[in-house]
Amino acid sequence: GSVIGILGGGQLGRMLAVAASRLGLVAHVFDPDAAAPAAQVAARHVRADYDDAEALAAFAEAVDVVTYEFENIPTEALDRIEALRPIRPGREALRVSQDRLVEKRWLAELGLRTAPFAGVDDAASLEAAVTQVGLPAILKTRRFGYDGKGQARIADDADTGAALDAMAGAPAVLEGHVDFGSEISVIGARGLDGAVACFEPGLNVHEDGILRTTTLPAPLSHAQRTDAVLLAGRILNALDYVGVLGVELFVTPGGPIVNEIAPRVHNSGHWTQDGCVIDQFEQHVRAVAGWPLGDGSRHSDIRMQNLIGADIETVPELAGSASAALHLYGKAEARPGRKMGHVNHWLGPAAP
Ligand code: ATP
Ligand code: MG
Ligand code: MG
Repeated sequence: GSVIGILGGGQLGRMLAVAASRLGLVAHVFDPDAAAPAAQVAARHVRADYDDAEALAAFAEAVDVVTYEFENIPTEALDRIEALRPIRPGREALRVSQDRLVEKRWLAELGLRTAPFAGVDDAASLEAAVTQVGLPAILKTRRFGYDGKGQARIADDADTGAALDAMAGAPAVLEGHVDFGSEISVIGARGLDGAVACFEPGLNVHEDGILRTTTLPAPLSHAQRTDAVLLAGRILNALDYVGVLGVELFVTPGGPIVNEIAPRVHNSGHWTQDGCVIDQFEQHVRAVAGWPLGDGSRHSDIRMQNLIGADIETVPELAGSASAALHLYGKAEARPGRKMGHVNHWLGPAAP
């Protein structure tokens, strides 16, 4: 297809639209917000809500294939679109990743390690979950959480009431705290023909639940690197996936533990823009448009740094550095915790 429809007009949608345009394709974006970052770069912005059946149909009919930058698209909207155009990645990837409990069960069934977990709906099931999972633990809403939002830590039994209150009645999952050595992620891709290509795992550092930096190369052994990439490949194949997928992992002495997956381009893959000839955004567009994939090889060492909230004030200084590649999202207001842009610090050529 030559017109790519993107559901969601945030920074990920914006960078997808730029990648599409660079390949001579046309990007249409669907987002209710007039100031959506992607609206500034896409050829067309359909500004409507996800319950607007007419707008969804008009959007779908004007494109060849539909993709998305976030996983929480309402099911009815997906049904309406799918009646008209293919959605890539497909519905199974969305079904699995829209709900943390479903996702954890699915990963466990595939034979992958996750943190110990149990579903929580009320005080009684929380008590049972604490007995099963142990403490310390983290209570997370099953749906809609991101950047550590919708999570409450439980250090000991005294914290359970407050943690349950923090869920505000939403169904939740209790996860045992993983004592990890480090966090890494694999950004993997699978083409329409089933070919798989993964980028090398990067080292992720989070603060207050938000990704701060991703660094390549990650301090991993050859075996750890291979393990992580093969694990991502298993997920891609099991989902019969088309597009780019983010897999967040905890590195432990016993091997990798899957934290979560995201059926889309991922913040921890932004380093690929300046570390690889073909980055995650182009890779995703290639996959959903049915093109051959890039091989994912890395030419440079990179540290990606997120510019969050007031960090945006350092841009004039960063702009003066020859080794800092700036990627700014065009958001007018710098609220605390809001991702305003990122910078890829070039650290040198990759070791051969
Ligand atoms: P994202 O923005 O990546 O989607 P999220 O809101 O879905 O974030 P998680 O990835 O579940 O949140 O958690 C955010 C961070 O909190 C993790 O990257 C990790 O640092 C920490 N964390 C989450 N779950 C656990 C756990 N079970 N054990 C230890 N640390 C955890
Ligand atoms: Mg998440
Ligand atoms: Mg996460």
